[in-house]
Amino acid sequence: MTKFVFVTGGVVSSLGKGIAAASLAAILESRGLKVTLLKLDPYINVDPGTMSPFQHGEVFVTDDGAETDLDLGHYERFITAKMKKVNNFTTGQIYESVIRKERRGEYLGKTVQVIPHITNEIQDYIYRGAEGFDVALVEIGGTVGDIESLPFLEAARQLSLRAGRKAAAFVHLTLVPYLVSAGELKTKPTQHSVQKLREIGISPDALLCRADRPIPDDERAKISLFSNVQGDAVISVWDADTIYKIPQMLHDQGLDAIVCEKLGLSPKPADLSVWTKLVHALENPTYEVTIGMVGKYVDLTESYKSLTEALRHAGIHTGSRVNIEYLDSEEIEANGTGALAKYDAILVPGGFGKRGVEGKIAAARFARENKIPYLGICLGMQVALLEYARNKAGLSHANSTEFDAQTDQPVVALITEWQNHDGKVELRDVNSDLGGTMRLGAQTCDVKPNTLAAEIYGPTVTERHRHRYEANNHYLDRIEAAGLVVSARTPTEDLCEIMELPRTGDNAHPWYVGVQYHPEFKSTPRDGHPLFISFIKAALAHKQANTAA
Ligand code: GLN
Repeated sequence: MTKFVFVTGGVVSSLGKGIAAASLAAILESRGLKVTLLKLDPYINVDPGTMSPFQHGEVFVTDDGAETDLDLGHYERFITAKMKKVNNFTTGQIYESVIRKERRGEYLGKTVQVIPHITNEIQDYIYRGAEGFDVALVEIGGTVGDIESLPFLEAARQLSLRAGRKAAAFVHLTLVPYLVSAGELKTKPTQHSVQKLREIGISPDALLCRADRPIPDDERAKISLFSNVQGDAVISVWDADTIYKIPQMLHDQGLDAIVCEKLGLSPKPADLSVWTKLVHALENPTYEVTIGMVGKYVDLTESYKSLTEALRHAGIHTGSRVNIEYLDSEEIEANGTGALAKYDAILVPGGFGKRGVEGKIAAARFARENKIPYLGICLGMQVALLEYARNKAGLSHANSTEFDAQTDQPVVALITEWQNHDGKVELRDVNSDLGGTMRLGAQTCDVKPNTLAAEIYGPTVTERHRHRYEANNHYLDRIEAAGLVVSARTPTEDLCEIMELPRTGDNAHPWYVGVQYHPEFKSTPRDGHPLFISFIKAALAHKQANTAA
């Protein structure tokens, strides 16, 4: 029988509920339990795939091709279970499913209502995602008191009632602000937020109180008294300089013990040594590199969450501090590439739309000509390909049909624009629905022997995709003849997965790689990721060579 831990949030959003839930999950996993995490999103969108990264941060992609909330990225970085479609659902999906059932007549003429039909559907979805696990941590998006999240909270309450006394625990995350003018921490918002929760029938078993500093005992006692939560279950979660310290912080205050007791579980003691080791590595680097990241949403690091984490993980596994500086590609368009010279490596991440793309192409050229390590991810691979086509393969108009639909040299295009429809190829064109038209999720292909990619990955590569456009096979031979190497292609459709510059000969470059997929989604702090580790090593070597010169 799966046990549940519901994680709710109060007072304000962005307190790090996802990281708190994932950290508790990590402790429970270290105690030998089989643990998974679910994220319930209260918005009406069916998935976050069509939401602006400005509003929503990164869209995380799972192996099975779901476009999900970025919290699922945290989950995979903290525990070993791989997230799937069933680990994240939205109000939109629940309603869509209930309405479909209603249309099919499955409710036998009954009036279909929020309670019980929507709340039952939510419980079914929770059970579906939790199946096969000892403990499922269920993070409920939004803040207690929001109209939108009410059906989710109601469903959690009902589930805990039905499943029995030891089947569910509730953990509530709140804010304890420090008021500078008063010179003190304020507990009232937390008291009110717990009251709101109790009004709908949920009594938290533990409170995680976020503050910019540790919360002293007398404030914790006050929170305990007014919220009716045991004193030792009022846990202080202060700002940490790295998120990977949170499991230890929560364990030191006994959160896992409180939860296990509530659930009637007595697993082996926690072993957080992997977290201790990686925090130590993070805090005691031997080397340091600075990566220039050329993007569009430059001031919004939330849209590159997995990527910045992946670079940090590579730092952990190469003994280096990795600094990331964000550069606006439109600024490069306006002022040239001069600002790029100082970086130990250049990275162009994924992106959509035409804005700033010429700046990214210029950055790829600068990295190639100046032999600076370059990693292009998804759009970053496409711009590197366009750059090479224009400046080395005599295709001076080379463009992507995403940026110029009429280009006479569509070196990057929708596959339907260049491939015969043989029935095997998924049809994707500009008129398709925005959702569901992309190459999504994990795919495996062979890597060409004796390439840099083969050194990094070995004979095969399995990575996750999220893009519409592809390198156009009609031009690839010509571009390869001009020196670029396509080091991996998909088995059935022959799509370009990895491209690189050779390390010897006329076009030699020490480390220049473009990948059509998003490797960042599979990087974890425990293991790092071979591509990012290799990239950071190349950056270190570049820096060393430059310092020596
Ligand atoms: N816009 C490009 C495409 O759709 C790249 C997408 C991406 O970088 N994720 O193919």
